[in-house]
Amino acid sequence: MEDSNKNSNIEKVHCLIIGSGPAGYTAAIYAARAGLKPVMYQGLQPGGQLMITNDVENYPGYPDGIMGPQMMEDFQKQAARFGTDIRFGLVTKVDFSNGAHKVTVDDTHTLQADAVIISTGASAKWLGLPSEQRLNGFGVSACAVCDGFFYRGTDVVVVGAGDTACEEASYLSKICSKVYMLVRRDQMRASQIMQNRVKNIPNIEILWNTETEEILGEHAVEAVRVKNVQTGELRDIPAKGFFVAIGHQPNSDVFKPYLDMDTAGYIVTEKGSTRTNVEGVFACGDVQDNVYRQAVTAAGTGCMAALDAERYLAAKGL
Ligand code: NDP
Repeated sequence: MEDSNKNSNIEKVHCLIIGSGPAGYTAAIYAARAGLKPVMYQGLQPGGQLMITNDVENYPGYPDGIMGPQMMEDFQKQAARFGTDIRFGLVTKVDFSNGAHKVTVDDTHTLQADAVIISTGASAKWLGLPSEQRLNGFGVSACAVCDGFFYRGTDVVVVGAGDTACEEASYLSKICSKVYMLVRRDQMRASQIMQNRVKNIPNIEILWNTETEEILGEHAVEAVRVKNVQTGELRDIPAKGFFVAIGHQPNSDVFKPYLDMDTAGYIVTEKGSTRTNVEGVFACGDVQDNVYRQAVTAAGTGCMAALDAERYLAAKGL
């Protein structure tokens, strides 16, 4: 087996991009066109969260919309066209101590990069029901802004009681007939102002002490079976959309020993840039953004990361 600790086995690269969603591919396009010879490791889910999305209708430049996986294939082709070295592999360890930019992939191969761009994204938290997995993309979604439009004029269900759930419910209330909010306790976690907002919207009905038992429907969501945890009563709510809004998890664990993060694990970047607290390491996309979380904003910060990396390398004479 390869000994990744031996210096001779360490591969030297100029610009290393970790993660392959809209942020990573955009960083790759800019870095490759700037002559930085980027090497990209795609991670566990090449293409990222858009691979589990159907139509994307809010990305400018696609007047008829585009399927998420198709869009990511196009991003990948564009990154490859300018020479990005795109590889399968998951980063399992990093060493950013004392100016090192060492990254180990699949526990076997170690690289040393002049600059590192992190675009590992975030993953929506799911309830973990088999029906939720089966109907993902067929009525089950974790993003109202992305998918709410498909359920206009219908009844939908939102699960969660934090600020995200309130925001999703209030967004959906403008386009859907009725929004049911499932709150598992007798109170919400959301800020008071957000709670008040949803409580005052006439077509939002909050079901307290209520959990999801099952999502019903063979090929698409047709109803949601819910259970009142105090009475044990079961009830089927007819609905076409089921929006899970119980939080996101940034994919940042592997960088924890070295990078500044907020309490939820989002990488902290300097305001107005993608610079992290480690020189030569940049972060873009959802791994550093718990506010906007859109493909277009991720792509925008991916571009920023490549420009920041290019300037850093030029200033260092690398
Ligand atoms: P939170 O962690 O704040 O809330 C998650 C919610 O999901 C909680 O109500 C929790 O219930 C519920 N939940 C968790 N697991 C389950 C489950 N298995 N079944 C049912 N319900 C479940 O996540 P958010 O994404 O809402 O917010 C993350 C952060 O981002 C927060 O700090 C928030 O303030 C911030 N934010 C701010 C916004 C703004 O200011 N505009 C907008 C969106 C987010 P319980 O309470 O019972 O644990």
